[in-house]
Amino acid sequence: MATNAPRDNATPALLFPLFADLRGRGVLVVGGSDVARRKIESLLATGAEITVAAPVLDPVLRQWAEQGRLHHRGDDFAPAWLDHVMLVVAASDDRALNRIVAEAARARGIFVNVVDDTEASTFHVPAIARRGRLQVAVSSGGAAPVLARRVRERLESELDGSLGTLAELLARERARIRWRFPQAGKRRRFFERLLDGELPCLLRAGDEAGAKAVFERALNAPDATAPRGSVALVGAGPGDPGLLTLKALRALQDADVILHDRLIGPAVLELARRDAECIAVGKRVGEDHDATQARIHALMLQHARAGQRVVRLQGGDPLVFGRGGEELDFLRAHDIEHEVIPGITAAIAGAAAAGVSLTDRRHARSVTLLSPRGQTDVDGKALAAPGQTLAIYMGVGELDALSRSLIADGRDADTPCVLVENASLPQQRTLASTLAELPALAREHAIRAPTLLIVGEVAAQAQRAVRVERCRGETSPVAHAA
Ligand code: SAH
Repeated sequence: MATNAPRDNATPALLFPLFADLRGRGVLVVGGSDVARRKIESLLATGAEITVAAPVLDPVLRQWAEQGRLHHRGDDFAPAWLDHVMLVVAASDDRALNRIVAEAARARGIFVNVVDDTEASTFHVPAIARRGRLQVAVSSGGAAPVLARRVRERLESELDGSLGTLAELLARERARIRWRFPQAGKRRRFFERLLDGELPCLLRAGDEAGAKAVFERALNAPDATAPRGSVALVGAGPGDPGLLTLKALRALQDADVILHDRLIGPAVLELARRDAECIAVGKRVGEDHDATQARIHALMLQHARAGQRVVRLQGGDPLVFGRGGEELDFLRAHDIEHEVIPGITAAIAGAAAAGVSLTDRRHARSVTLLSPRGQTDVDGKALAAPGQTLAIYMGVGELDALSRSLIADGRDADTPCVLVENASLPQQRTLASTLAELPALAREHAIRAPTLLIVGEVAAQAQRAVRVERCRGETSPVAHAA
């Protein structure tokens, strides 16, 4: 049995967003002031059968009642009023009455909104940005209506007025489109081609006749043969979703299947198309890397051959370390349509985080990206000369050997270094040091992968930043970047 007991606010529960068809359905609004009027204004457009209950009505409401757009009753509320009602809005200025109405609605399992009373409401009315039949609804989940309104204001400036006309055109042609493309996948591709093409631009320019002609051409174009699948090797950047490229975002939103490294965080994956199939394919320590790579190749082939759009999503840039080069070879060898969408690689993100210019012309003559995993005997002599900036990937497990071999090859033990752990993520840490002190400091601060190491005179820029913090009383050499 439903009760009016306060709900458990400790457990966060999301409101379920919903657009309801109220045509011919009973809606009761209790209250006759301007507050009730504003609610009724948006309800009138839905075709609901509205009853407004209040002893006195605001002049506009009175007029609407006289015009027969709503029913009016002036007697005292009785729960039996709810018998043929689907929604209730309690908008009177009598808080106690609102609560009584809410309780009666709840007892009958009818959704009720109580103005300015989140506790007593079982539905909230969102802030709306509307273009014709296209509506974007925003809710702050009861946190602060002002926040939802702010977001709506931003949407208002971004949603072109012609979107309403576009939605109207598509609604008018819905039956023909379904008839022409009975299969859901083909229909979706038709819509995507249409919306990516010139039709929206023509509508924005106010050329409805031109838009209609483009629509007819697209609808009647000979059926494209089986959709050709494709693979995009996409760089997801270092982790912060704000560092995705617009092209990467677009690919994620168009994807049927996403094969992603395990390191890719939920904040990035959340931006993908809701019904895209996400498969974690990254390698785990101790796994047979060749078998994992073979599985990635097989999945790319299988899904692309089935006509799907595959995104192979990798951290940073897809072709910097990892095995993107081999994936590219595989796609070429199997004649699979493909493209590469670059991403911000860890060296670039790490340098930005540490406030270091890798190529600073005052200190650096060259930059080398290297990954010493399993081969600490890199050509040290070439890298040991002053003025060489090294951006070292996957090196946290090998800092001792790395530091020793660079020094043995002649690099100054005092060469500045900076480690950047989790660059661009909220848990980012930077640790400035010297080549000789680096391994011990990294151990002391329990630095873990993913971490990028920058070695070279340019890293002194990061050291200065840390020293400044020390002067301000910081004792730890770990600078938690804001
Ligand atoms: N393709 C990736 C690199 C893959 S190799 C790129 O372009 O960035 C994995 C290594 O990249 C990690 O061991 C680490 O050294 C580095 N890395 C990836 N993301 C990182 C991050 N957010 N912060 C610091 N280093 C990172």
